[in-house]
Amino acid sequence: MSMRPLSQLVRPNIWNLKPYSSARDEYKGAEASVFLDANENPYNAPYNRYPDPLQQELKEMLAPVKGVMPGQIFLGNGSDEAIDLVFRIFCEPGRDNVVAIAPTYGMYKVCADINAVAYRPVMLGADFSLDAARLLAAADERTKVIFLCSPNNPSGNDLKREEIIKVVENFSGIVVIDEAYSDFSVQKPFREELSRYPNIIVLNTFSKALGSAAIRLGMAFAQDEIIALFNKVKYPYNINLLTQRQAAEMLRKRFDVDRWVKTLIREREQVMTAFAELEICEKVYPTDANFFLTQVQGADDVYEYLVRNGIIVRNRSKVELCGNCLRVTIGTPQEDNRLLAALRSYKRG
Ligand SMILES: *Cc1c(COP(=O)(O)O)cnc(C)c1O
Repeated sequence: MSMRPLSQLVRPNIWNLKPYSSARDEYKGAEASVFLDANENPYNAPYNRYPDPLQQELKEMLAPVKGVMPGQIFLGNGSDEAIDLVFRIFCEPGRDNVVAIAPTYGMYKVCADINAVAYRPVMLGADFSLDAARLLAAADERTKVIFLCSPNNPSGNDLKREEIIKVVENFSGIVVIDEAYSDFSVQKPFREELSRYPNIIVLNTFSKALGSAAIRLGMAFAQDEIIALFNKVKYPYNINLLTQRQAAEMLRKRFDVDRWVKTLIREREQVMTAFAELEICEKVYPTDANFFLTQVQGADDVYEYLVRNGIIVRNRSKVELCGNCLRVTIGTPQEDNRLLAALRSYKRG
């Protein structure tokens, strides 16, 4: 099934929107040296100047790293900005709906609720596997977007590639594939397949493998025309100068990042093996991310016990398919050993 034309997928008010044009949008030359166009203060360089609204320099550094063209990149204040923009661009409040896997990342539903868009969760299998046919069956003519997350949060597993492709190829709307954790997985990332799949939006982030959650920088990769819509709707200067500079600095530190990822993957295997041997541990789910899900006896009590010992994991025991489950992020060996030591001396109350 081919993609509906963007003119039919996009909300009419957004399709017809004439965006705000900033001083820095209208003047693009490099030769000028006197800038008296934006009511900035001439003192306090470099913070006196508005930052590049389209972050061109950073996108040119990012493009070869991510295997996309600069025009296929949107940068947002965290992935959360990209997720919110997907709703604001494609989904008419009170009318359209989105379909998403469940359980998954909580922000898709929060953004749907904020934008008054109906959210249709479709449960994954008991092993957190994706069944494309079940997901597609939940979509109707008012479904604008399907949300997938791979590796999925909180389960940690990659969704099967063939099933993702079935969803993408058999849905005429937009498919968001959130690959926040793809650096920890061996699967080929979907951002490298933008030319084959014009209806996908792939999400990446600086918050996980790149170790930069504090700077709030999310990425969306999609065909140029979709990125142009993001640029039209976003706040003019959505990425501040400090964030743009620090992101560029992280791209220069690619070797550190690669080393962190390798270290975390090695540590992950050790922590999971040690977990499986704990008396209270019922199950350790396979993972392709920098965290894993584990089912334990009396998860709420274990969680509270760890809090009392100054160790915080994520209690997912109230989430569908995650009864008695905790989600554990891989830390440094010292941090992970403190967690394991605490759990070894835990006595059920
Ligand atoms: C952590 C995470 C993100 C990152 O969000 P940011 O706003 O970029 O920090 C995105 N998606 C998923 C599924 C995540 O778990």
